[in-house]
Amino acid sequence: MENKKAIIVGAGLVGTLWAILLAKRGYQVDVFERRGDIRKAELVGGRSINLAMSHRGWKALRKAGIEDTIRKVAIPMSGRKMHSVEGNLQFQPYGLEDQAIYSVSRGGLNLELMNIADDFSSVRFFFNHKCQGVDTRGTTIRFKDTQSGEVKDLEADIIFGTDGAFSAVRGSLQRTPRFNYSQHYLDYGYKELHIPPTADGGFALDKNALHIWPRGQFMLIALPNLDGSFTCTLFLAYEGKVSFEHLNTDEEILDFFNTYFADAVPLMPDLLEDFRDNPTASLVTVRCEPWTYQERILLMGDASHAIVPFYGQGMNSGFEDCSLLDDLMDEHSDDWPSIFEAFGQRVDDANAIADLALRNFIEMRDLVGDPLFLLRKKMEARFLQKYPEHFLPVYSMVTFSHIPYSQALAESHAQDELFRKILALPNIEQRWEAPEVDAIFQQWLESRQVALNTI
Ligand code: FAD
Repeated sequence: MENKKAIIVGAGLVGTLWAILLAKRGYQVDVFERRGDIRKAELVGGRSINLAMSHRGWKALRKAGIEDTIRKVAIPMSGRKMHSVEGNLQFQPYGLEDQAIYSVSRGGLNLELMNIADDFSSVRFFFNHKCQGVDTRGTTIRFKDTQSGEVKDLEADIIFGTDGAFSAVRGSLQRTPRFNYSQHYLDYGYKELHIPPTADGGFALDKNALHIWPRGQFMLIALPNLDGSFTCTLFLAYEGKVSFEHLNTDEEILDFFNTYFADAVPLMPDLLEDFRDNPTASLVTVRCEPWTYQERILLMGDASHAIVPFYGQGMNSGFEDCSLLDDLMDEHSDDWPSIFEAFGQRVDDANAIADLALRNFIEMRDLVGDPLFLLRKKMEARFLQKYPEHFLPVYSMVTFSHIPYSQALAESHAQDELFRKILALPNIEQRWEAPEVDAIFQQWLESRQVALNTI
């Protein structure tokens, strides 16, 4: 490609990271963002919203050369800490001893990525520029300058749509023939709440864990922030017996929290204000295909695959889009038709992590408090220790590896089958390390080997 110019729509996490990777390859990149510059806004100084970063995210940051910078401001969470209704705590490690997911500030990470992108003279940011769509018959893209009101049609050789779950770029592609699209909302919404630091500036809860208050049909979670606070998120049905529709008065809200999350209430002095002031937001899964259009438009991140947050993989999978594309550029140089074709195969992986994330909602809100589920986790850890060549728990595949998501989803079905047999053994609670358990495991391994050999 002679004229190495690209337009990126959306300066969120994925768009800014992709701008850096393209700039490193000598591209002239113009990034258009609907919002104002977050570096000039109060946003970043305000309350932090945090995300869990894991292997796939770190790999992409390493490629961009900012892994070390972000690791310095990330808090490792080596497991889940479950809070029972009575206030008892139980810790469940996520993986091996040295493995952890990391709580990072979303605003802080976005800001850091923007600063690094800005260090390249070849990257230009255009804030307050809202994309209104792409001309799928011609070669232009339309933006409205939201401050002046001016509408501009810009020529673009190659466009990357990283404008999030409600992408305007995707909106234009949706009107083209044979573009498949679906969006599905959960009947659940979420609300962000806050646990401030203690009086002496410390953490009110163990900072090296992701805290979960699983309550069957709903849950509260909390992730640590560097300033000693925790960002909490309540996931609850919009309607029904226990739901947002019945939490209107101060009394109803306090009664709900005192009944289900009594140990958290004293830690949330601003509970009522937060509950009233913070919006109840929806949870959507977006699937679409193809992600490319005429070898000049490509959707990435939430624009092509928005998922529910229960596996902590939305940003991680968007960052994996970036590292995968970067790898493909190593292979195909600037041959975008070949890159687009190869990248299109990732749709199956995106659909797989969408399914896994929906499934993990049930695991987090319901099963993490179930004794048989906890027993399964103990056995998973034992199999991992004892048969490291043959067994990797699905959580570890998704979180601590780069194994394609579609493979992890297939493995989840196979492992469900294994544990269905093991957990059916009489008195399994007492005999979970007995030779019969290992015998079932061996049979399972052999049957998979046979299946593999017959393909
Ligand atoms: P976004 O971050 O949405 O960025 C899109 C950008 O495009 C924005 O800046 C937006 O202003 C801009 N834009 C939108 N429309 C236009 C337009 N028309 N013109 C110009 N600009 C536009 N992921 C994880 O990996 N780990 C987690 O722990 C995790 N927790 C989550 C918790 C919650 C409650 C939620 C809702 C999500 C969570 N996620 C998590 C998912 C993660 O936030 C998203 O996957 C990630 O932000 C996607 O990045 P993106 O850049 O694709 O989209």
